[in-house]
Amino acid sequence: MSLENQYDSDNIFAKIIRGELPSVKVLETEKILAFMDVFPQSKGHCLIIHKTSEAVNFLDVEPQALSELMEATQKVARAVNDSLKPDGIRILQFSGARAGQTVFHLHFHVLPVYEGVVVAAHASGKPADAESLEPIAADIRAALS
Ligand code: AMP
Repeated sequence: MSLENQYDSDNIFAKIIRGELPSVKVLETEKILAFMDVFPQSKGHCLIIHKTSEAVNFLDVEPQALSELMEATQKVARAVNDSLKPDGIRILQFSGARAGQTVFHLHFHVLPVYEGVVVAAHASGKPADAESLEPIAADIRAALS
């Protein structure tokens, strides 16, 4: 079951899981990795992925992996809320290129929203550097522990 794309084990997030590409991590377990979005649409924008499921999108994820992903997504959203005190949080998942999906390894976005601050465009612009993301990730990590 898929909206066109097949799983490619060389996708960006698979490389991040294997440590072949860098990421600024907020949570890592045997099954789950959460890290900062490198094109943050707002301060604290995180992504949550499963480390062993090869689901491309929401349609083809196994129920057990989905449950682990949702539990972690809620945990990260709570930590974002506690540490960054946004005015709202969007939980997003895009399935299929036509819906806006750009990385074909299932992931959930935790996107904090702040009163009076425009949410930036999706997956575009100049990437943030690790030095600017790390202090935000450290605050989120502290709220997770
Ligand atoms: P989507 O468009 O829903 O598939 O989301 C993919 C997300 O991954 C976008 O929000 C991108 O900004 C983000 N992204 C792309 N490359 C990286 C990367 N190397 N590290 C962290 N986030 C990334």
